[in-house]
Amino acid sequence: MLHEKLASIYDSVLRRNPGETEFHQAVREVLESIGPVLGKHPEYAESKIIERICEPERQIIFRVPWEDDQGEVHINRGFRVEFNSALGPYKGGLRFHPSVYLGIVKFLGFEQIFKNSLTGLPIGGGKGGSDFDPKGRSQREIMRFCQSFMTELYRHIGEYTDVPAGDIGVGGREVGYLFGQYKRITNRYESGVITGKGLSYGGAQVRTEATGYGCAFFVEEMLKARGTSFDGKRVVVSGSGNVAIYTTEKVQQLGGTVIACSDSSGYVVDEKGIDLDLLKQVKEVERLRVDVYAKRRGGEARFVAGRSIWEVPCEVAMPSATQNELTGRDAETLVRNGCVAVGEGANMPTMPEGIRVFREAGVAFGLGKAANAGGVATSALEMQQNASRDSWSFEFSERRLQEIMRDIHARCLKTADEYGMPGDYVAGANIDGFKRVADAMLSLGLI
Ligand code: GLU
Repeated sequence: MLHEKLASIYDSVLRRNPGETEFHQAVREVLESIGPVLGKHPEYAESKIIERICEPERQIIFRVPWEDDQGEVHINRGFRVEFNSALGPYKGGLRFHPSVYLGIVKFLGFEQIFKNSLTGLPIGGGKGGSDFDPKGRSQREIMRFCQSFMTELYRHIGEYTDVPAGDIGVGGREVGYLFGQYKRITNRYESGVITGKGLSYGGAQVRTEATGYGCAFFVEEMLKARGTSFDGKRVVVSGSGNVAIYTTEKVQQLGGTVIACSDSSGYVVDEKGIDLDLLKQVKEVERLRVDVYAKRRGGEARFVAGRSIWEVPCEVAMPSATQNELTGRDAETLVRNGCVAVGEGANMPTMPEGIRVFREAGVAFGLGKAANAGGVATSALEMQQNASRDSWSFEFSERRLQEIMRDIHARCLKTADEYGMPGDYVAGANIDGFKRVADAMLSLGLI
């Protein structure tokens, strides 16, 4: 339910941003959480902080022309939404996927404001991407696309302005091509202009693993708060990209058994536990589908096409594929099958009805803003290393990541307590993330 003042703000967001359903959903979730804050802080309403936060500071849309291997010309659309820079330079990834349009980039950018705020590190929120579909494209085509994309983007970004990174469809290879083109155009080795770089040219240890590892650490904290652990638990991780792979790796190290993963073709169940070396070989090296994983595992695993992975019974669910992948129905199935904790590795993977089902059933629900903040937090550590021309060890970086995730978890619980909603991570994360940004905006004057 929306507080009266917030309902009218939400109506105006709907009117000003027609058709951008994912953005509406992301805004609504935050507005539903922050009602109790307004009573305690009339200054936010007086200075229209919420209306200001819902309007991006700057939105850039551009043409990305590129040539395929046959010499045919293609035109894609590029986006960068610079949403909020009250806490630091805009920070957030780039997504290359055919579903990308302004509404998706705005939802991701909006989420990023509060996620980045929750890390406690000095980073604002932004996001970008393109409707380019990397599936089936050759390495040279990907390179040409990245070069063309950066040929426009370079004028908008900078170490102190806006620092992109990866997201769906943009991994280490793409970040390399993007950075290479930035360096070539500007003739400046500004490593802090983009994060997720390779280790040989300014990248940070643990950045590749960070979103997944961080999510596993966050769920470990939620389980600990309930007097339990990953030990012996059946875990389902949807997706099989960067987040899913490193979530699986850390969950296995923490004693859980990841029994299923998926991609857009279907899911795989492997009761003895996912063979991570094989999954990495199939997905990261050969860039094939998960049915190939099942085939190579012989009788150990089975592939199920076209059904929801959430029908696989588990105690912990970690949706790590994409937005709105877990419906209200899926949540009911999970609860019925004994699920006790959910950690969102993807951004907004659970639909609003699903979130309601989990909260009503008393499931520990770690929303993406909190649970998957380890990726961007480690990006901020990469910026820190770049700025000081330093590079940290794997062990130190992982320890920092774990501390950051523990802090976020503790702050969510503390804030939820303060506002009379004990154990509610959604309220805790949204309120805590919002307040830091709102207070900074108040201090900075009418911006
Ligand atoms: N795309 C990631 C996210 O959703 C990371 C962004 C970054 O490292 O800037 O948080």
